[in-house]
Amino acid sequence: MTEIDKIIEILRRWINQYQKPTLRSTVKERNPFKTLIACLISLRTQDSNTKKASENLFSVADTPEKIVKLPLEEIEKRIYSCGYYRMKAKTIKHVSGVILEKYNGKVPSSTDELLSIKGIGRKTATITRVFGFRKADCIPVDVHVHVIANRLGWVKSKTPEETEIQLMNIVPKEYWFELNTLFVLFGQKICQTNSPLCSECPVRNNCQRINVNRSR
Ligand code: SF4
Repeated sequence: MTEIDKIIEILRRWINQYQKPTLRSTVKERNPFKTLIACLISLRTQDSNTKKASENLFSVADTPEKIVKLPLEEIEKRIYSCGYYRMKAKTIKHVSGVILEKYNGKVPSSTDELLSIKGIGRKTATITRVFGFRKADCIPVDVHVHVIANRLGWVKSKTPEETEIQLMNIVPKEYWFELNTLFVLFGQKICQTNSPLCSECPVRNNCQRINVNRSR
C-alpha cells in the first residue's frame, strides 16, 4: 500500500462524520447545469452559503432558459448570501445566455468549450466535468487541494494548474473523482490554509508538513 493509498483510506473514514459539500451533492442529480451554476456561486464563500444561495436560485430557475428570463436584480437577491453576489449574478446570467444561444441550452462537456465561456475558469470547468458529467479524467484543484497536496509532499507546485498536472501523474485514477471532495472538506476542517490543525490531524504520521511554519 502506498502513502497515497494510506492517506486516501484514512480520509475516506474521516469524512464519514460530515455531510458532503454542496457541489459534491449535485452529482446525484446528474445535472451539469446545476453543478456549473452552484460552482460559480461557491467561489470564495463557505459551503453553507453556497447551499443556501443555490437552493434559493434553483427554486425559481434551474435551467438556462429560466435564468436568462430572470431580472439581474432577482438573481442578485436570490444569491445574496454567497458574497460577491453582484459579480456572480452577472456571470451566472451571461453563462446561461451563452449556453442557451450557442449550445442550445445544453452545457458543453469539453474543458476547452467550457473555458471559452467568459466567467468559467479551470476549477469550475473541471468541477462541471467531474461532478456534472461524471467524467473522471481530470482533478478539480482549488486552493485546498493545492495547499494540502504540497504540504503532504505529493507535489511541488506554485499554481493550482501545476498541481493538477502533477497530481494526475502520481495519484491513481481510481481516486481522481473523490480527491477534491476529500481535500476540500479536510481543508475546511483540519488542514486550514492559514494555520493547519496538525494536533488533530488524522494523517499527521503520513504528512511531510512541507512549508508549514505555523500550526496548532
Ligand atoms: S499534519 Fe498538518 S499540514 Fe499535514 S495534512 Fe495534517 S493538518 Fe495538514
